[in-house]
Amino acid sequence: MAQTLNVTVAIVGAGPVGATLAAALAAANIPCAVLDAAPLPPMEMQAFDGRCYAVAAGSRPVLEAAGIWQRLPEPPCPIERILVADGEPGRPPSPLSLTFRAAETGQEAFGWMVEARSLRVALNARLPHLPALSVFAPATAEVASRGPEGVSLQLSTGEVVHAQLLVAAEGRRSPLRGQAGIRTTGLDYHQIGMVGAFAHERAHDNQALEMFLANGPFAQLPLSHAPAGAPFPHASAFVWSDKTAIAKRMLALDDDGFSRELARRSGGLLGEVRVIGQRWSYPLTAMAAERYTAERMALVGDAAHGIHPIAGQGLNLGFRDVAALADLVIAAVAAGEDPGGPALLARYQAARRPAAMMMLGATHALEKLFGNGFPPLRAARRLGIAAVDRIGPLKRAFARQAMGLG
Ligand SMILES: Cc1cc2nc3c(=O)[nH]c(=O)nc-3n(C[C@H](O)[C@H](O)[C@H](O)COP(=O)(O)OP(=O)(O)OC[C@H]3O[C@@H](n4cnc5c(N)ncnc54)[C@H](O)[C@@H]3O)c2cc1C
Repeated sequence: MAQTLNVTVAIVGAGPVGATLAAALAAANIPCAVLDAAPLPPMEMQAFDGRCYAVAAGSRPVLEAAGIWQRLPEPPCPIERILVADGEPGRPPSPLSLTFRAAETGQEAFGWMVEARSLRVALNARLPHLPALSVFAPATAEVASRGPEGVSLQLSTGEVVHAQLLVAAEGRRSPLRGQAGIRTTGLDYHQIGMVGAFAHERAHDNQALEMFLANGPFAQLPLSHAPAGAPFPHASAFVWSDKTAIAKRMLALDDDGFSRELARRSGGLLGEVRVIGQRWSYPLTAMAAERYTAERMALVGDAAHGIHPIAGQGLNLGFRDVAALADLVIAAVAAGEDPGGPALLARYQAARRPAAMMMLGATHALEKLFGNGFPPLRAARRLGIAAVDRIGPLKRAFARQAMGLG
């Protein structure tokens, strides 16, 4: 006889968004199951993994409430200042730049740089110890039935999970989204995002740099410390978007050549630089699901939306989905209402889809405005950047949006 597990919420996909939702709900004693096609422990890689997330100030309370922030193995590096500038490879940032200071908004930091590996360590330390949560990994699931009574999932491990709400958190290619007939619209930027870490000679002083270059933006994001054996005492992560053909050439370079190209794009602010650890690359696309819900199902994270990494907001959007859905489910359970019913799903969609569409539009507009080397446009946007720097309320409004506090 297959074992049947009855839960309130079943989450398919234990990436950063699905796993955080599982921890947030289980921490509030909502019975949950989460499953992932990949085994969880090997996600904690031994080798230095330079991939990092800029976790916005507004996302930190989500991770704290889920008991994850407290379990990060290393203190995340705060981003206290952000220098935004137009630039050209091999040249310093334009002096007509814009500096955001967290202190000017009354916050200690815009956000914190959390290594992907650290987040995984914290999630893996949290998930198995929540009595309300059952974890299945590696496992996949088929929807066996779906109706007014709930959803039944047949797991590849043999168990049957019956839930009132099913959450699709399997990332961009979400099979559950497709099976529910939810259409998506997509956009290819014809760019590749190169991600990793580099050591540098001069201190970053907790400052991030967003350099707008004609072929795509280059971001330097401060890390707490350089790993043991690094050639320089300080380290930062980079998210460097470039045209596909150029990025492929860059990725084929050896460490010396790649480090030279990094130095040309980081504006010379950090002295000598040297790439460390592995480089990762992702083709850059945007995606919007036409709906975030289907019968007894909600989409969260990259299953619902995908945006350009120009503003480092992709995962933060997912954390906002987590906050909205967790609040609605916890309130519904407390009020004795159906946590997977049409009323709750409509409230979730109304809370999240317009906000995510706005972020998608804003990141797309930024990419288009700044990814253009046409000289008159470049001059105009440099003046625009400098003007925003001088208009205090506008600058603070931008900063609060980036922090997820807008
Ligand atoms: C270059 C680049 C840089 C970025 N930088 C930032 C940043 O600085 N800040 C930020 O906020 N965001 C950033 N992002 C975005 C961020 O990486 C994503 O938004 C985030 O990973 C989405 O998390 P997720 O849990 O929704 O999906 P994913 O991370 O894709 O996780 C999905 C999970 O589902 C599992 N899965 C898949 N299919 C199945 C299945 N059929 N059954 C069961 N499980 C399944 C997978 O194994 C995986 O564990 C960046 C993205 C890129 C491309």
